[in-house]
Amino acid sequence: MNKKGRLIVYSGPSGVGKGTVIKEAMKKEPSLVMSISATTRSPREGEEDGVNYFFITKEQFEKKIEANEMLEYAQYNGNFYGTPKDFVRQKLEEGKNVVLEIEVQGALQIREKMPEALLIFLMPPSFEELKERLVGRHTETKEQIKGRLCAAKREMKEAVKYDFIVINDKVEKASLDIIACVRAASFLERFNHDFINQQNDDNNKQEEILL
Ligand code: 5GP
Repeated sequence: MNKKGRLIVYSGPSGVGKGTVIKEAMKKEPSLVMSISATTRSPREGEEDGVNYFFITKEQFEKKIEANEMLEYAQYNGNFYGTPKDFVRQKLEEGKNVVLEIEVQGALQIREKMPEALLIFLMPPSFEELKERLVGRHTETKEQIKGRLCAAKREMKEAVKYDFIVINDKVEKASLDIIACVRAASFLERFNHDFINQQNDDNNKQEEILL
């Protein structure tokens, strides 16, 4: 039987390079798959429905919440974003490590509901560097950049609630660090409760035999 996969929550401020780093990590580690979120925001140029997001209306989104089909959801910049349960459940059963690239509010909902999830936060090398990256990509207005930097400050304060912090100085290094975090997670005490309990039961049985 397949070993179940792990749920990996992956966050970081806008402009830090989350997409680039995780794509690189996925090339090297085939057990990683990305979940596809649903959103009420409009597609950007080049984005495809069912590939980047499921683009749905606010009414459709609300129906999904009512039907309890969302693992988590949050409002961000005036739009709804959420993780549909079905895909995640199916991939975990197949033994895949499913990555949710989501913002902080959603990440903390997952922490509450699923303590077995692993939380990784991608940090820029400095705030100055983040600002330069956001300005350099020429996709937002000055006002939007200001808004994103304010949000970034708020989000980076929440990094203390994550299991691992990875710094995106170089994409190659950061992608290897993400893979190292996923592997290291197998050794964390909280992911080994079943094994520890089993060992303790066996130890007790052995003790009974010896006495
Ligand atoms: P964008 O509009 O730039 O694609 O995404 C805006 C923010 O929403 C990003 O921080 C992204 O990680 C987050 N996001 C994307 N999908 C989800 C989701 O399913 N749930 C939550 N909570 N946040 C999401």
